[in-house]
Amino acid sequence: MGVAEKIKQLKSNLPADCTLVAVSKTHPASAIQDAFDAGQRDFGENKVQELVSKYEALPKDIRWHMIGHLQRNKVKYIAPFVHLIHGVDSEKLLEEIQKQGEKHQRTIDCLLQVHIATEETKFGFDETEIRELLSQGVLAKMPNIRVLGLMGMASFTENVQQVKSEFMTLKQLFDQIKISTLPANVRMEILSMGMSGDFEIALACGSNLIRVGSLLFGERSYT
Ligand SMILES: *Cc1c(COP(=O)(O)O)cnc(C)c1O
Repeated sequence: MGVAEKIKQLKSNLPADCTLVAVSKTHPASAIQDAFDAGQRDFGENKVQELVSKYEALPKDIRWHMIGHLQRNKVKYIAPFVHLIHGVDSEKLLEEIQKQGEKHQRTIDCLLQVHIATEETKFGFDETEIRELLSQGVLAKMPNIRVLGLMGMASFTENVQQVKSEFMTLKQLFDQIKISTLPANVRMEILSMGMSGDFEIALACGSNLIRVGSLLFGERSYT
């Protein structure tokens, strides 16, 4: 089955309000073009350089999602065109995104990444930090940023119960923040959780954006 059929099949099983971000990292522009021709518009990359070169080579109505860890000194390269930055994990990074958004006269949409996994290696704020960030008035001073929700990655484990409880933790935080008093440029609309191996669990836990790579494009080879 080619990528076009896989996308159609996956989409037919998703709730109507769920966005599918096709994670195309390491795969060539031709594979993205095939998916694009099948109607897919949202694509995710985790490396700035790869994202920029694919942006330049491919149709301009693609919505590019930066899903990986973003270094501050690289924000400038994606600021002119990025659709949504998923992995915002520090106030310093927010400051840089604000600066670049102002420079390019656009509002940059972001998700705050929350650390829900037990692994040390996954980036993100913890719950307390998120609450502090949202209540301290920091974001009110960042008019070129719009926070649209939260993103998280569960532990890489076969333990379904653990993955489920991590996703539930994030959903609860999302729901609590949603009903709290928020800065004008913060809305809890997007809950980005779930990848090839765990998106079904994520959907059951309330995800409305899944980031799926290998299931659509095949295994990645890093050579
Ligand atoms: C690579 C990646 C994905 C997609 O992973 P698959 O297991 O291939 O679906 C999703 N989210 C992030 C943040 C990634 O880096």
